[in-house]
Amino acid sequence: MNGRRGLTLVAGGAGFVGSHLGRALLDAGERVMCVDNLQTSRETNLLGLQNHANFRFVRADITEPLPAEVMERAGEFTRIYNLACAASPPLYQENPEHTMLTSVLGTNRLLRLAEQSGARLLLASTSEVYGDPEVHPQPEDYRGHVNCTGPRACYDEGKRAAESLAFDFARAGRAEVRVARIFNTYGPNMRMDDGRVISNLVCQALSGEPLTVYGDGSQTRSFCYVADTVDGLRRLMESPLAELQPVNIGNPEEITIKQLVNALAAIIGHPLELEYRELPTDDPKRRRPVIARAKELLGWQPTTALDQGLEKTLAWFAHELKTNHARRLV
Ligand code: NAD
Ligand code: UDP
Repeated sequence: MNGRRGLTLVAGGAGFVGSHLGRALLDAGERVMCVDNLQTSRETNLLGLQNHANFRFVRADITEPLPAEVMERAGEFTRIYNLACAASPPLYQENPEHTMLTSVLGTNRLLRLAEQSGARLLLASTSEVYGDPEVHPQPEDYRGHVNCTGPRACYDEGKRAAESLAFDFARAGRAEVRVARIFNTYGPNMRMDDGRVISNLVCQALSGEPLTVYGDGSQTRSFCYVADTVDGLRRLMESPLAELQPVNIGNPEEITIKQLVNALAAIIGHPLELEYRELPTDDPKRRRPVIARAKELLGWQPTTALDQGLEKTLAWFAHELKTNHARRLV
């Protein structure tokens, strides 16, 4: 897919999506440098990558000046993916100041590195820039409905600021950028204790515990299998976009949380007990991407149906649960 054979930097490359991206890039013959502070990574995500001759891991926090090992190789970078940022609400709210600075300061540092290297930078932005949307489904030109004073703001507003910085660099001709607005993604390599709905419900179902449904479970999300998301990110990175425009990367198959529970019950083969909990503050009620732009510009759309993706995810978590006893954030 990538005609250029420079060095690709993946910030956040030890995380859930980043570890799949790193694997896909290595499989395509790329050389990858992963920069990660390991704040929300699963420790074992790097195991399959670190033995690869074309993979280099540098432990660093992108809110701090980038280490010499990265800066010394600035001339080699041709692609920079910025995936660094805690993505699960309980985890990104643990240290909101750091979450905000990761998006703003961290993205700024990587944009400056892109400027210095002549590399193209892809920012992993998010559907959260649409907040609790008043327009449904969400096209890229919808400007969003974010509460800038709420507990999700450190993430949502941080990503909005990061987008703004990326487009300013591009407008000024300082760096070539791509901005992906990723919608809820799931699959193997999620942390079982990350508190997101798929990891929580899958682990609970497999452990015979009641499934925690926040609110009445009528809120919707549109879940994209990680291999599809990674394919979308790579296509976007390599696309010859003429205009400065963000691109939604997500699966338009929208379901309620209660329907998600039913989908899991159908795979597991018996009804699942529910435990209702309070809905978190500012929890978006509906979310579904319009992906016309990704289809037209990238020739991309998800190919993994929810039941297929859930089956793979269940199988992976079942293995994890046998071998791991991590704390779970529910
Ligand atoms: P994740 O938490 O598994 O991965 C993020 C990685 O970034 C982790 O390895 C973490 O240690 C690292 N990190 C965090 N702050 C850092 C910092 N300051 N310096 C260096 N490394 C840092 O999350 P994910 O689900 O893999 O998400 C990856 C990216 O995609 C994030 O930027 C997220 O905002 C975006 N995104 C993800 C989803 C999703 O559903 N997974 C949806 C929308 C957007
Ligand atoms: N949710 C839930 N049970 C859980 C975890 C989350 O019902 O154990 C809900 C949550 O309130 C939200 C949806 O599932 O409405 C998706 O939550 P997640 O944290 O995965 O992602 P986000 O809210 O960032 O889309």
